[in-house]
Amino acid sequence: MFLRHTLLTRLGVDHGFGSRALIQEPEGARTFRQVHGIGVLEVSGPKEDPPREADGGWSSDPSVAISVFTADCLPVLVCSAGGRFVSALHAGWRGAVRGIVPEGIRRLLEASGNAPGDLVAVIGPSIRSCCYPVGPEVWEEIASLHPEFYKDHGEDDRLSLPSLVRLQLESLGVLPARIGEVDLCTVCHPELFYSHRGMGSSRNGRSMLNYIRSSN
Ligand SMILES: [Zn+2]
Repeated sequence: MFLRHTLLTRLGVDHGFGSRALIQEPEGARTFRQVHGIGVLEVSGPKEDPPREADGGWSSDPSVAISVFTADCLPVLVCSAGGRFVSALHAGWRGAVRGIVPEGIRRLLEASGNAPGDLVAVIGPSIRSCCYPVGPEVWEEIASLHPEFYKDHGEDDRLSLPSLVRLQLESLGVLPARIGEVDLCTVCHPELFYSHRGMGSSRNGRSMLNYIRSSN
């Protein structure tokens, strides 16, 4: 079962946020060797084996489904005004803080010629602030790279990655009305999701696949 968001479905953009009940991966799925970095690659044509190292991709080729795996990290799906250019991004705390989402937005703007206000971005199910206490090393990096966010949240017990990503999107000029969120916590809903923090070793490496496809 894939969860979908109206901001993308009403544009006719084929996409999905995976759950534990994933039976079949989408046709033309293209995944990456994810490394918690900020690399975003253009993807088209036949499947690569082994997959390239990156934490996101973009494409305007409707035969491929740009896909990222998550199990608590944030999947972020982005599309251009008409849905022709699409991007899927994987953001754990490192990638989010270091800027995988701004990098994906930058690549999509460059490819599409759109203005930031034309884009649609949807943040998928992830670990949320209810379940995400983080250590000083995380706050230190946030303080140095995102002082504005740190000023408002540095005293919080727990980190809200979706809030950080939303702030990044808005500061790049993506309109609040065009930012969607599937606000389900992957730790709080073990019946729906695999969770790195919530399941420990019983997760056994399993994760959710999240994808988006160009509606060229
Ligand atoms: Zn939770």
